Order: sequence, then C-alpha cells, then structure tokens
Amino acid sequence: MTSRGELDIMRLVISFPSWESIFPGLTAIGWQGDTAELASALEPWKESQRIAVNIDLGADGVLPKIGIEVFSRWRHPLIVDKFIMRLEDAGLCLPEKGEALRRWIRFRPDADPFRQTLINYFKLNYKDGKITEAKAYLGQTPYINHNYFDAYEFPGRVDFYLRDGERALSADSALRLLAQCGENRLRRARFMGVEGYEEFDRLLGVCRENSIRAEVALAEPVSREALEKMIAAGADSFLMDMEEETGWAANAETLRALGFAGFRLRWFMHRGNAQDLPRVIRRAGETGAQELIITGMKPCSAGLRRETPDRGQIIAAAEIINVWQKENLRNGEAINEPQDGDAANEPQDGVSAVAPGTNEPAGTDAKSRMELTVESCFSPLRAVMGGADEKRNGNRGIGRGCEAGSYFVAVLADGSFTPCPYLDARETYGFISEYWEHSPLLKKIRKQNGHEGCPYARRCLPCFAVIREACDCPVHPLDGDRP
Ligand code: SF4
Repeated sequence: MTSRGELDIMRLVISFPSWESIFPGLTAIGWQGDTAELASALEPWKESQRIAVNIDLGADGVLPKIGIEVFSRWRHPLIVDKFIMRLEDAGLCLPEKGEALRRWIRFRPDADPFRQTLINYFKLNYKDGKITEAKAYLGQTPYINHNYFDAYEFPGRVDFYLRDGERALSADSALRLLAQCGENRLRRARFMGVEGYEEFDRLLGVCRENSIRAEVALAEPVSREALEKMIAAGADSFLMDMEEETGWAANAETLRALGFAGFRLRWFMHRGNAQDLPRVIRRAGETGAQELIITGMKPCSAGLRRETPDRGQIIAAAEIINVWQKENLRNGEAINEPQDGDAANEPQDGVSAVAPGTNEPAGTDAKSRMELTVESCFSPLRAVMGGADEKRNGNRGIGRGCEAGSYFVAVLADGSFTPCPYLDARETYGFISEYWEHSPLLKKIRKQNGHEGCPYARRCLPCFAVIREACDCPVHPLDGDRP
C-alpha cells in the first residue's frame, strides 16, 4: 500500500517471528539505520510475540523512518492503562489523548450490531536514533474476549411473559415496550404465555415493523390454523420444550408439514434422564428442528427444581456433544454459516455462535441440518465442554453463562421487569433502557462471578437460582480433580 497518499512511496508491513529477528532482518532488506541504536531505543517496548514492522520503499530504497507495531493483542483495560501511562511518561502521548483512549477501551459492547471496542495495536515511529511518536490504532471487533464486560450497552433480547395464571400483560403495555425495543435497536423478543392471548397477532406485526425477530415459546399443542396465523403475522421462530405434556411433537409435525423449519427444541437434562441424551438428539433430528438446545442446572419451571446432573453425567454429556458437533462441522453443509443479520459472535441460548432464523424447508438429516447447542444457563456443561485448559476454553465473555441482566431481561404479566423470572425479583420502571441502566439489582447481579476456587471460575457463570454455593455444583473440584 502507499503510505498516506504519498504515491512515490510504497509501505510494506513485515511480520517478524521474534523481537531478536527484527534487527538482522531490517539490515537484510536494505535498511541503512543503525540497528544497535534501534534495539536500544526499542528496549523498553520489547514484545515477546510476532511483531510487525512498517517500512517505506522510495525510489532509492528503504527510507530511514520505520514503524514498529507493539501491544497488538486485546488485553484487559487495566493493562492497557499501564501501557498508555508509560507512553505519557515517555512524552509520546498527550494526557488528553491518553484519557480519550482510556474511555474508548471501556465502552460496553453493543449487542446488535455486535461490537466491542479495542486498540488493535500501537505503532512506534522511529527515525534517527529515537522514537518520534506513538500512534494508537482503534478498532471494533465482533468478539467478546473477557469477563470484564458485565453487560451489553442495551439488552440483546427481551422476554415477554404475556400471561401468568389469571393475569395478562395489557396489549398497550406490550406495544409500548416493543416500540421502545425498536427505538433502542433491540432486535430479539421472545414471547411466553401466548396461548389464548388475544392481541398476539398485533404484537407480532409490530415486531415485524420494527425488525424485531420474534420467537414464540409454545407450551401447549397448537392448531395448524393458529400456527399459520402466527407465521403470517410475523413469528420468526418457535421454541418448544421437549416435555410430553407440552405437545411439542405434534407442534413440530405441524410446522414441518407447513414447511416452516424455524423451530427449536429444548431438552432439560437432569439426574434422572441424563442417559437419554443420545436418544433425544436422534429424536430431535428426526423432527427437522433447526436446533436442539440442551439445558439443565436451572429451575425447570417456576418453583420446580430437579436434581442436577452429577459430575460423571456432565462429563459424558460434554463428550457426546463435542463429538456430535465435530462430526457435523465436518459433514454438515450450512452449520457454520451465520444467517443474514446475525452477528458472528452474538450470544445465543446455545454455546454455538450460529443463530437460528431461516425458513428453509425442514430437513430430516440431523447430521447436516440440526444444530446442537447448550443453553447458557447450563454453564457448567459448557465450561466442561471447553476443556480444562483455561486459555483454550472458548466459553468466555458475557455469554459464558447466566445471561440474565447482561444479555436479556424479562417483562412479566403484571408489567414489572425482572432479570429472569426464576430469580423472583421484580422492579417497576417506565422504560426498558431506564431499567437496564439504573436497576440496582441488575448492577448487583452483573458483579457475580464463577465460584472462587473452581478452575472454571472465569469460564462459567452458573445459575444462581439453583447453585448458590460452590458445593452445590458437581463440577467444583471440592472433592476431586477438575473434570
Ligand atoms: S438465573 Fe440465569 S442461569 Fe438461572 S435460569 Fe435465569 S437466566 Fe438461566
């Protein structure tokens, strides 16, 4: 490339495998500078990993000014702060600019479109025996790298509990809140308690108008006509729990007959049924579901808890799912391709980054069509699936575990807000954004961490509605090695 529009100069960026290789490397390509002087000037900024050097080629060869890229990985803001401070002390960064950089790296990520701010790298320009200036290259990335991010700028999803026993959320309230979702670029809504809710079509219509992807949770068998009506009104996908009494199989069959593949199944794994996992995967695949979500280690319904799977069951399930996913990545057609409008790493219910949402004809081949994921609520399983090496374990960031209050919130039938209905904590606010920004409860739960002493502490955020103490968690190595 040319540097800054200087058409008679060509900029080359050379990546050196080690710090020591820079100096003989520069001499070899014809840089005329004193490499001993260069090494001495750069000594305080020495890097241990791959280093890129910018050189300029003019008509007479390599020009004297070169630029060395340092600090080129995402790091925790406190570490970046120290680097900025060193630049300030060295007279290479004005305090006002340092402050602006500190603010930049502290922005919360935006859920939709999904963005995280960072400094890609710093470049130290060198000429005539000294570093003349430092430049920071700012970036945005679709990846969340650290537990440091406690929440998104706005919720990524709002769950609406439309009916609850005798109570029902008024259509006016629901419409008002959906309008707020649209204004705040919230792009996902999930609806529960839709059966018998009279104005539901209207809500779906407003979702469609505001480009909000509407997922409908079905808890009962629904007629073909009702499903057709919801699809026509704007339902993007359906979510069904694989519990016999919910009529999920009949609903899946009807959706399949309608040629609507946008439905996901969720299976609750507990101590009494963990051995059924392979059978459940097969069964879900036969229905043509777009995704099977494995969940567990959370309350399975309000007030009802089942015994959490034991350590052996979690390890076995992790292996089954990892093998399944590997085989499907190898054999599947579209499994790794994000759909339109889905950010590459946006957190979903499942551990996979791929989002649901097309209306392609349903397939029957589980190996090529269905996704198999683990709900973030089942964080210990996701952590174990990622492996014991913390550096390689990909279960990280906001989506590593419980996402209540960090990715989504819920609106209950009485109009109150809650981070998650299982936490039994309600608050009343006029605006979703007000609740998201000011609720003391949300602030508090965002501070929760994994269990101290557990090797997965930074790769897991378990359901605090179920696992209140470290010893409640079968994965915690209180009496054994890490799985
Ligand atoms: S509290 Fe968190 S982990 Fe538990 S059920 Fe709610 S969202 Fe899931």
